[in-house]
Amino acid sequence: MNCEIDWASIDDVLLDMDGTLLDLHYDSTFWLKNVHALVALSTGEPEEQIRARFLKELKKHEGTLTWYCTDYWAKFFGIDLIKAKREVSHLIRFRRHAAEFLEVLKSTSIRTLIATNAHRDVVRMKLEIIPLDQLVDGIVSSHDYGVAKEHPDFWKLLFEKKKIDPSRTFFADDSPKVLDAADKAGIREIVEIRHPNLAEPPRSLWKKGIEDFDLLLPELKKLALQ
Ligand SMILES: [Mg+2]
Repeated sequence: MNCEIDWASIDDVLLDMDGTLLDLHYDSTFWLKNVHALVALSTGEPEEQIRARFLKELKKHEGTLTWYCTDYWAKFFGIDLIKAKREVSHLIRFRRHAAEFLEVLKSTSIRTLIATNAHRDVVRMKLEIIPLDQLVDGIVSSHDYGVAKEHPDFWKLLFEKKKIDPSRTFFADDSPKVLDAADKAGIREIVEIRHPNLAEPPRSLWKKGIEDFDLLLPELKKLALQ
């Protein structure tokens, strides 16, 4: 696909964390497998029953902050979620070319912000493994604003608080609902990440996208050299 971006007219790059910068395999493995096994081990409830109970509850909260709230799910499962997440933290890793993309951005005058639906506890834990905070100009968790990225108010608050002009902004995410919300909020350049989970094949769910950041690097590097 044609993914030419006029980087010279971009002031801000907004990037999702899980499935965009980092491999979604970690999160998928944890939420669809590990957590149920851990709860089954401590309560004796059959793993399949826990998973069914979880998926039913999860469905109720789609697109809301609760869906992403580790406090809520810790209570639901009755376990220390962050401790449990740490046990599989060896699966936390960059997606291909994401680190290089951040490094090239760093050498330009573009401001780079991570905009994530992840809870602050999860962000903190991931930064211990991959210090993303050292590669970007800031990290915004939608939990700070009390509304998920799927909601128009998230974008309104983000633009106001960070003084962002959406017509001079680039955004990448792997969630079609979030991409739609960003589109409606007026962000000019929006790109779907089509290979969020490195253990699964790439997929395409949105009108414009890339599998990896390497497609964007040649043009961005020209700006970095100026
Ligand atoms: Mg994501």
